[in-house]
Amino acid sequence: MRGIYIHIPFCLRKCPYCDFYSVTLDRSLSEQYIDALIRNFRADKYRGLCADTVYIGGGTPSALPAELISKLMEGVYKNFSIAENAEITIEANPCTVSDDKLAAYRASGINRISFGVQSADDRELKALGRLHDFDTAERAIEGAQRAGFDNISADMMIGLSGQSERDVLNSAERLTALPIRHISAYMLKIEPNTAFDNDKLKASLPGDDKVSDMYLSLCKFLEGKGFYQYEISNFAQTGFESRHNIKYWRLEEYIGFGPAAHSLFDKRRLRVPRDLRGYISAPLQTELPEEEPFDERVEYIMLSLRLREGLDMQRLSALVGSSSAQKLKERAAAFEKHGLCRLSDGRVSLTPEGFLVSNSVILEFLCAVGLA
Ligand code: SF4
Repeated sequence: MRGIYIHIPFCLRKCPYCDFYSVTLDRSLSEQYIDALIRNFRADKYRGLCADTVYIGGGTPSALPAELISKLMEGVYKNFSIAENAEITIEANPCTVSDDKLAAYRASGINRISFGVQSADDRELKALGRLHDFDTAERAIEGAQRAGFDNISADMMIGLSGQSERDVLNSAERLTALPIRHISAYMLKIEPNTAFDNDKLKASLPGDDKVSDMYLSLCKFLEGKGFYQYEISNFAQTGFESRHNIKYWRLEEYIGFGPAAHSLFDKRRLRVPRDLRGYISAPLQTELPEEEPFDERVEYIMLSLRLREGLDMQRLSALVGSSSAQKLKERAAAFEKHGLCRLSDGRVSLTPEGFLVSNSVILEFLCAVGLA
């Protein structure tokens, strides 16, 4: 079954490090936008589409009034065949939820909520330009639990200006004391043309070695708290991994709706242009530009190695031939000696130390099979 991604390109205010596609929330525009999404759900191309995951991301979906999200979910159920046990996620900013909103999400079928908490340290939150403090995040998470969410995720960030390893572990400690099942931990990356893209800010960031130490300590700490690392940046209690995001890494198909949304659909990588007004005024988004041609061999190596389960040698052999697969295995065995790889049960995977240098390791693997 496929996944459905729905992009909500509205935020209350732009965070200085963010380059996701979003504009400032506008009530009338958001109403027109939800209508445009539902119009697209009805397109012939998607008729009969079956999905077992739906992900409402952004942007800040929770900035929208609850009735618009309920309308959106009605559109989803009416136009697609959604599995009974589907995972249906909404991303939320802690300062934009209320008990009523959370109850409305549950009533509309949403069963997973992912909060952009980022840190438990109010100074760090302020420096990130976030609108919430940690108390607000705690209240939002507890409110979600009261509303009946059993599957709650929180994002956190590492590598922030002035941040120490201790600060990272403090945030992790306070987050894991809350009723959450899943943590995504991202390293701050300075994206071009964002407000953070300036020399002064860059000079204040911890160096690579420090960030690597933070990452490895965090992985160890979270494992000790029962959040196992199932992907480079993702940790979960068993059974609470993000089923939707796993589709991306396993190269399963998903269709994205809304400006800037990506899809892997009928073995083609498609992308909706980053143009909200154009999306609203266009009749349908069905003729989408294709991104670079989909090369399953390259993508399988690159994406499967983000997961702790790693790549399956049988599938790799089917894709690149057994002698190339054998060459990759030999490289992996060399990396294993340095603690970067694991080889077991017919699979090759990276260790947390390997994740830190995954770009170089993957490049070596691609060279080994003749794809780079
Ligand atoms: S709330 Fe999220 S999507 Fe919106 S600007 Fe901030 S980081 Fe980006």
